[in-house]
Amino acid sequence: LRPAEALIDGSLDPEQRAFRAEVRAFLRETADQRSPLQVFADRGGATARLYEQLGAKGWLSIAWPTVHGGSGMPLSFEFLLWDELAFARAARPPVGAGMIARSIIEWGTPGQHAMFLPGIRTGTEGYSLGYSEPEAGSDLTGLRTRAVRDGDVYRVTGEKRWTSDAHVGKWLWLLCRTGAPDSRSRGLSLLIVDLTSPGISISPIETIDGHRLNEVRLDDVIVPETHRIGAEGDAWSMIRQALARERHLQVLPGRIERDLEMLSVIWKGLDQDERRGEQNTVTSLFAAALAVRAATLETVLAATHDEVAPLAAAQNKVVATELMQDIARYAARLGDGSALAGAQPLSMIWRESILETIAGGATEIMLETLARSTAASA
Ligand SMILES: Cc1cc2nc3c(=O)[nH]c(=O)nc-3n(C[C@H](O)[C@H](O)[C@H](O)COP(=O)(O)OP(=O)(O)OC[C@H]3O[C@@H](n4cnc5c(N)ncnc54)[C@H](O)[C@@H]3O)c2cc1C
Repeated sequence: LRPAEALIDGSLDPEQRAFRAEVRAFLRETADQRSPLQVFADRGGATARLYEQLGAKGWLSIAWPTVHGGSGMPLSFEFLLWDELAFARAARPPVGAGMIARSIIEWGTPGQHAMFLPGIRTGTEGYSLGYSEPEAGSDLTGLRTRAVRDGDVYRVTGEKRWTSDAHVGKWLWLLCRTGAPDSRSRGLSLLIVDLTSPGISISPIETIDGHRLNEVRLDDVIVPETHRIGAEGDAWSMIRQALARERHLQVLPGRIERDLEMLSVIWKGLDQDERRGEQNTVTSLFAAALAVRAATLETVLAATHDEVAPLAAAQNKVVATELMQDIARYAARLGDGSALAGAQPLSMIWRESILETIAGGATEIMLETLARSTAASA
């Protein structure tokens, strides 16, 4: 057991333990196919193959309802799976199998279920999230990508930014404006767009951790009306609910615990006096990681409770992502400075920790959520 697991082990039932053991066995079997930098690198290659393997085991649809081809298991199993994969630095949860599949299941038509769910379940069709734009990130209600109805199709023009995996995915889950330019949250719709459609151009945006984000330009792209999920103009409440359903996967403490393992190795390599001098800091980082695991479990438990879940998740995201930065910076200070250059694990966790506080909702936005709730209950 990893140190922090003592916290949860007693609370797992035999079925959960057996599932965790199965995931670990799978990761051992497939370990030689992954590099220790897998989470950061090779998104379309080894990661795509891993998603297909997970799909073949039924693990991409583990908590989907059985009528839609899922296993109908509780969210805690999804959490156990991705937490183990995070510890192994194997992969992050793909957006398709999570919030996108759940939205299609809830708001899609039977025809859309048949068209889109099988490729997600098997891991053969990747999705990317087309929300952010050059002038709309934290505040998506200002987005400008426009979809205009023309008979039974939409013609879409606009620009998306920071789009993860658009260069390797099949589909773009596009948030776009179908209402008047000033309709803010009331005039937004969701379309599923084939990324190979004429009029789409994708160019890379390199990030500090070697992750590739993209700029996706859409120039009069034709999208069938049958690819619109939910009613026209109804996307805002759908994307908020979809986001809410991903909270149990937003922070994966396994990732932090793996970073701490690396820190331990560096610390053990110091001489005895140095080790003693650093012991308090190292201990407090381990204690903070235990607190993150406890808070994440609270988020998993709260995931289906609409009132507390957003607050638990916002708090957890801030604390966990700041801890990732503390661990990475401290490890870099203790270790050999040259380890920060190039594609080495320490360098990669240090670089990636910088992005974590922005992706999936910036720290300031999380703090605003918490502050508003405190003010409302005061
Ligand atoms: C690694 C990574 C992957 C990403 N992948 C995707 C993806 O696949 N699809 C996608 O659509 N987007 C993606 N994004 C974009 C991400 O969602 C946005 O970067 C994020 O929402 C912030 O938006 P922004 O970059 O426009 O910054 P802005 O919203 O312009 O914010 C700039 C700064 O101002 C602060 N700020 C903004 N509003 C407020 C406020 N009301 N109060 C206080 N401070 C505020 C922010 O916290 C931030 O510090 C990704 C980003 C990263 C880093």
